[in-house]
Amino acid sequence: MRTIIIKRLWLVAFFVATSAAGATHEYVVTVAEDLGEIQGVARFDAAVTDVSARSRSASEFLISAHDCGRDSALPVAPRLTIPNSGLRCLAYRVDLEKAARLNRRYNQGDTKSLIVRIPLWMWRPRLGGADEVIVSFELPDGVDVSVPWQPLADRENTFRLTSSPQSGSAISIFGKFAAETVRVAEADLSIVSVPSRANPISAEVIDWTRTTAELIALAYGRFPNPYARVLLLPVATRRSESAVPFGRVVRDGGNTIELMVDPSRPRESFLDDWTATHEFSHLMLPYIDRDGRWISEGFAQYYQNILLARAGRYTQQVAWQKLNNGLVRGRDSTPDLSPNEAAGGDERNTRMKVYWSGAALALLADVELRRRSAGEESLDHVLGRFQSCCLPSRRTWTGMELFEKFDALIDEPLFVDLYQRHADAAGFPEFRPLLDRLGVFVAGRNVRLADDAELAEIRDSLTARRYTAESSK
Ligand SMILES: [Zn+2]
Repeated sequence: MRTIIIKRLWLVAFFVATSAAGATHEYVVTVAEDLGEIQGVARFDAAVTDVSARSRSASEFLISAHDCGRDSALPVAPRLTIPNSGLRCLAYRVDLEKAARLNRRYNQGDTKSLIVRIPLWMWRPRLGGADEVIVSFELPDGVDVSVPWQPLADRENTFRLTSSPQSGSAISIFGKFAAETVRVAEADLSIVSVPSRANPISAEVIDWTRTTAELIALAYGRFPNPYARVLLLPVATRRSESAVPFGRVVRDGGNTIELMVDPSRPRESFLDDWTATHEFSHLMLPYIDRDGRWISEGFAQYYQNILLARAGRYTQQVAWQKLNNGLVRGRDSTPDLSPNEAAGGDERNTRMKVYWSGAALALLADVELRRRSAGEESLDHVLGRFQSCCLPSRRTWTGMELFEKFDALIDEPLFVDLYQRHADAAGFPEFRPLLDRLGVFVAGRNVRLADDAELAEIRDSLTARRYTAESSK
């Protein structure tokens, strides 16, 4: 009992300390009945001079702006001009309908909603690491809003926007659309369907999204982020080449996993898909800078295959076939470049190098962690500890920083050494001897799994079928 009280006091102290460290700005955003316009009223923590919207074309949609502290208009053309003395309060109006025209693909006029990139309408100061914006929406009856920011439990239509790597431009939706928040492996996942008359998202696709997010917990028992949004974007024409032709993670004020889907495809083609698992796997790492993209892509490639095997969507054979084929393609791609050069440069045809050199490192590290600890330690455990200390992260990391942190989370360092040996070296991490020891042999084009191999048990611990509390129900 006593420890609980102490822990609670400690938590209170922690939250007081963090909120005191950064600025908190308060916004009220009012949406017009016909969705044509929005009005924002921003009350800043202290006077600010650097209010901007991230998109360069945002001022085209700015109708007017006022300093509500002094009741004076601010020039908006050709750009919003803030007086040198700064602003404590800003009121502004944005032509939402006009801004939505930039996203014609999803604004066909046949649904009662508008899809608008947030950098087109969100005028705000630059946020430091601990700063945040509390945004409260005033919505007409029958109108909902979707943003990637964290919803506040105790205030309706109110969200917390924090600083973030801004790795892309997040989408907002205003109007009528389908959204549900589901509990997935200790996380709240908001699954939002972008409306489409021609190819609407079905309940089956939403269910597949939830179960696919759930299988990420086969790494360390939890979804990597306590809150994330999944945006399901229907393809414009039916019968695309795959069920999920495209996906990406947008870390802009919060994390959105954007999945382009073709709801007209049969259920089996969704179960065969790996794109969603790849994108969800990205959330196990923070956003890494351009040079280190090979680490984020490589870890996602590695995990998409081993998690789909653990979930039973791939057989072990299929998972190792895909890992082997990918590693071979990575090794054969641009052998004269190092992973950092391949990821950071403008050279063409580096995709396989970027996508698989990090996967090779993840495999080398994972097997070594398991081997030297007789199975007590693993990459899953390291990433689980990393999640506890450092995710979701508001900033961009370098590859070296990440590997240093991983080493701090284990007894005997391993990751920095791997980084130093491979990140700036041409060629590709040597993986064939390791696959041999794991009992993954290549005969012709196919891999053959040998159960009498030295590390066959470790191979099975990586890819054998596992059951989560959910999947065994
Ligand atoms: Zn990726």
